[in-house]
Amino acid sequence: MAEIQLRNVGKRWGTFVGVHNFDLTIADREFLVLLGPSGCGKTTTMRMIAGLEDVTEGQILIDGKVVNDLEPKDRDVAMVFQSYALYPNMNVYENIRFPLKVRGIDAASHDEKVRRAASMVELDDFLHRKPAELSGGQRQRVALARAIVREPNVFLMDEPLSNLDAKLRVSTRAQIKNLSHELAVTTIYVTHDQIEAMTLADRVVVMKKGIVQQVGSPTEIYDHPANTFVASFIGSPAMNLIDGRVEGGVFTAQHTRVEGVALPDGPVTLGFRAEDAVLAGQGQIEAPIYTIELLGDATMISVRIGGALVSVKADKTYRAEIDDRIAVSIPVEACHFFAAESGERIA
Ligand code: ATP
Repeated sequence: MAEIQLRNVGKRWGTFVGVHNFDLTIADREFLVLLGPSGCGKTTTMRMIAGLEDVTEGQILIDGKVVNDLEPKDRDVAMVFQSYALYPNMNVYENIRFPLKVRGIDAASHDEKVRRAASMVELDDFLHRKPAELSGGQRQRVALARAIVREPNVFLMDEPLSNLDAKLRVSTRAQIKNLSHELAVTTIYVTHDQIEAMTLADRVVVMKKGIVQQVGSPTEIYDHPANTFVASFIGSPAMNLIDGRVEGGVFTAQHTRVEGVALPDGPVTLGFRAEDAVLAGQGQIEAPIYTIELLGDATMISVRIGGALVSVKADKTYRAEIDDRIAVSIPVEACHFFAAESGERIA
């Protein structure tokens, strides 16, 4: 069992607030992803849970016990970093075994534990190699095995895939997902990559400048972003956002007119996803094509509206030229509306 509670947790250095009022319960065995741009406070939050950083406000509880003053080694958490932090003079076997030795675990059980952990990350054949003789992906798997071997209650992973090339990232991501399922351990995973967040998480926490913007399942966050920041951070491409005005139930912006909008008059931001719009003979947006990108399984068309680039996903066989005029139809139920000033969702 490892339920983690963050009760109004904050981190300040002097007057600078790194993390503000973080309040969340992470369920036993949940895979929680902290997502946000560089500097938003993800790593600091995780380091506070690990005990590597003091908490300046609030309380952290693991299984109902306040751990604010507990040393990292007494928290039963294992951390995997983006820099693998392996010992260069030890081979793979010794690297994986190291946490068992440090913790004084009965030496008779080491061999079996090390081999089991190595086998889970498919390193059986590399046990005698030194880190310098491994690829980046293999080194990262040693780091994972070294965390697994401890059989911790909580895994903390800080951008574990960021040093891997794109292809290896995808396969290692799948392996982490499979491992977390097999080990059934509470996992907190930090990334700035929204695809990693969407594919791995039970729940995602989106952060900006130390403040939690939204907590939800990947689907909730994708389908109902709480504000324009979340909308523009999640999805590839991100949600289209068009600043305009509602008057008499009609939203207007450059090249854009959407009728039947049940909002009071005033400035608002319209949002919709590229895949929810369709190219049609007539539409709410009519504008010249700015770019056409062939993606293989689809064609991405974009037009410029005000300062914003608006993307529409078309069939893979769709062909057109830059500057051709197109009409984009957006079903009303696929439209999101956000307050112009605060960016908060209003409909
Ligand atoms: P990244 O993805 O770049 O690692 P992050 O979201 O993990 O970013 P943090 O490392 O948690 O961000 O940092 C949050 C903020 O706190 C940043 O603005 C950072 O500059 C600041 N910060 C981190 N450590 C300290 C420190 N020891 N003293 C002062 N400010 C710090």
